Amino acid sequence: MAEIDIYAALKKYFGFTRFKGLQEEVVKSILNGNNTFVVMPTGGGKSLCYQLPALMQEGTAIVVSPLIALMKNQVDALRSLSSEEGIAHVLNSSLNKTEVKKVKSDIANGVTKLLYVAPESLTKEEYVDFLQTQKISFMAIDEAHCISEWGHDFRPEYRNLKSIIQRIGTDIPIIGLTATATPKVQEDILKNLNMQDANTFKASFNRPNLYYEIRPKTKNVDSDIIRFVKQNEGKSGIIYCLSRKRVEELAQALQVNGIKAVPYHAGLDGKTRVKHQDMFLMEDVDVVVATIAFGMGIDKPDVRFVIHNDIPKSIESYYQETGRAGRDGGEGHCLAFYSYKDIEKLEKFMSGKPVAEQEIGHALLQEVVGFAETSMSRRKFILHYFGEEFDNETGDGGMMDDNMRHPKKKHEAKEDAKH
Ligand code: ADP
Ligand code: MG
Repeated sequence: MAEIDIYAALKKYFGFTRFKGLQEEVVKSILNGNNTFVVMPTGGGKSLCYQLPALMQEGTAIVVSPLIALMKNQVDALRSLSSEEGIAHVLNSSLNKTEVKKVKSDIANGVTKLLYVAPESLTKEEYVDFLQTQKISFMAIDEAHCISEWGHDFRPEYRNLKSIIQRIGTDIPIIGLTATATPKVQEDILKNLNMQDANTFKASFNRPNLYYEIRPKTKNVDSDIIRFVKQNEGKSGIIYCLSRKRVEELAQALQVNGIKAVPYHAGLDGKTRVKHQDMFLMEDVDVVVATIAFGMGIDKPDVRFVIHNDIPKSIESYYQETGRAGRDGGEGHCLAFYSYKDIEKLEKFMSGKPVAEQEIGHALLQEVVGFAETSMSRRKFILHYFGEEFDNETGDGGMMDDNMRHPKKKHEAKEDAKH
């Protein structure tokens, strides 16, 4: 495939003149028919990596994705790029007979370039039998970390994908994509999809504009948070809490102190959630106090701080949640409050779960303890956890954390953690 063609196609289908990060290399790998594994942070542009080669090739690319809402968005976006409505379809259980017929005929006629399916739909005999007879360009497994119990979103249906792919066609190239950077999850993906031979493309997970800070959590945490928010008046921020109750409490404490804040958690009705989210996006309020229910798919580029009232249950979660700060490349202050008592609380939450799950949860928590209590570069710690070398003397953002800016003696750090 000549270089000029992929740039022409990029322009034609997406209106972009440049590839982002490793996209060009990934697209070429797919066009060459290779198994390909892509690890890029959220917002890195993973969709285009498989959409562009799908649009350029003969046949239909099957895209496995875990969320119906996500699939619908992507299909709508693809349709808006083309005059051909059938260019992309979703195949799922909500379709009636006529709709399924239309999808099938568009695929058979070579009109459909991308077919989005949820993994559970792909287990349907009828679909597998049909797809077996069609020209399939490749299979893309989006959010591939769902395959791994070490990931943050394990889905058992993802485990059957390899055998289904083999039934659809034994020589179909497989493309796995994820924003999960931990080596353990990546190993699991490659093993489960039996694609250890894949061309692997891994972007850096360094976020040089984020400042990482951990403070001991004391009974004065409310006033610590209020002071911090007041010092950052007028800036947008997210405050994460573990429980809905704490979200409500803290939002109220902020309001009482004259801070424009709203709560957000899954216990609020849908209308209120949308309203509060919009108020934050439209900057009617500065702060949203939320459980982790908030943030998925929310793209506010100028979030200036993310505060963790409670330490997250894994480094992965911490990275994803703090990652919502400074998307525009500007300042992003990530402040987490830590007390060992909270770790014990999280351990206790897990006690009812299956043993294997508890063991994983415990191991992930131990890493969090290590991170919170370390006196080394926090950025180096995070990137090391993700299997990435980082030299904090020369690396981008090397001084951007509390430990580097205000080095402590070891015993001081230990003392802090006891509170
Ligand atoms: P991911 O799946 O990695 O989180 P997306 O595929 O959703 O990321 O893309 C994130 C954003 O980047 C989208 O708004 C997309 O339009 C944009 N984008 C992707 N590739 C390019 C590009 N080559 N040039 C400009 N914008 C791009
Ligand atoms: Mg994506």
